[in-house]
Amino acid sequence: MDPLKRRVADAVDGLADELTALSRRIHAHPELAFQETRACGWLAEFLDGRGFQVERGVGGVDTAFRATLETGTGPTLAILCEYDALPGVGHACGHNVIAAAGAGAGAALMAAREALPPGRVVVIGTPAEERGGGKGVLVDAGVFAGVDAAMMIHGFDRTLLHQDLLGVVRVTFEWTGKAAHASADPWVGVNALDACVQTFNAVSMLRQQTRPDCRIHGIVVEGGAAANIIPERAVADFNVRGPSLEAMWALYRRVVACAEAAAAATGTRLTVTQHRDVYEPLKRNQVLLDVFAGNLAAAGLTEGPAAPDRLASSDIGNVSQVTPTIHAWIAIAPLGTAIHTREFEAAAAAPRARAGLLAGAKLLALGAVDLLADPAHLAAMREEFRTR
Ligand SMILES: [Zn+2]
Ligand SMILES: [Zn+2]
Repeated sequence: MDPLKRRVADAVDGLADELTALSRRIHAHPELAFQETRACGWLAEFLDGRGFQVERGVGGVDTAFRATLETGTGPTLAILCEYDALPGVGHACGHNVIAAAGAGAGAALMAAREALPPGRVVVIGTPAEERGGGKGVLVDAGVFAGVDAAMMIHGFDRTLLHQDLLGVVRVTFEWTGKAAHASADPWVGVNALDACVQTFNAVSMLRQQTRPDCRIHGIVVEGGAAANIIPERAVADFNVRGPSLEAMWALYRRVVACAEAAAAATGTRLTVTQHRDVYEPLKRNQVLLDVFAGNLAAAGLTEGPAAPDRLASSDIGNVSQVTPTIHAWIAIAPLGTAIHTREFEAAAAAPRARAGLLAGAKLLALGAVDLLADPAHLAAMREEFRTR
């Protein structure tokens, strides 16, 4: 390994206990989306203590931050931290590990600051991944303007540099009909639940013609008040997912058409509310993936078995649509442990998570060194981003 990279990797090892403590502290105090005041504060304090210029509340989001290390004119690289938890199951997505790995990578680069090629490393605290799409809010607020590459790691049951992430649009359908006695005067009523049921049936038929990397799933939120009243109101929530922006929006329009057709067939009035927190699909960047692949061994990692059918979504997709981005999965739990489970929550504070945290921090920091050192990577990365 070249001496600078050796130094950066050693700096991560030197911070091992502190980073593990930071990760465990966040794990022990789970905070939901946009309420991550303690985690945000601890991370900002840690980076401030290492010499970063820390701004809190960036992009108009209270629990977001940006910590900057500048060594001269050059590229700007963003290392992302997530730190929100889930209701009921705490850090069952292991965002405490993401947070500590991102902060650790930044601190390791700071430790070698005078030897770093000129440029800027910004550690960005991005709240609300699980709900609300914090990164989308930060993208819209311009926080990623001028960022040449964005990188983060996420804990998983295996190490994978890339896994497709689908875009997801959330929509609420609300059908309004007319209440009537369901036995004495059913012909006077207009049945909103029928429209809802018909929408589910139409979507089920549509699903037969969608590609395997698309997903449509929904629930009935309201389906009537009592069995002896024709339901005057029904409400359903749907998530529509696709592998590209085009595929996602095309499928979304088909699902809305199902609800509209059901409204027409039943004589109900339909209100469509498309929620603002769209998670865009992850746009991969092979140049960035190759740079990271070149550092896997140095970080002590090997890739695990591919899992191409396990398709989720994340707001990192929104970042990947505006700048070259990598979202690498790092093994922090035994193979076969699903995320968002109590088992994964326990794993996120176990010794294997410490190892994954340190390896993830190294992978990020070594990748940053490569990108700062070689402008050719950046040019190739940008060209691929423009044309993919
Ligand atoms: Zn999650
Ligand atoms: Zn997650």
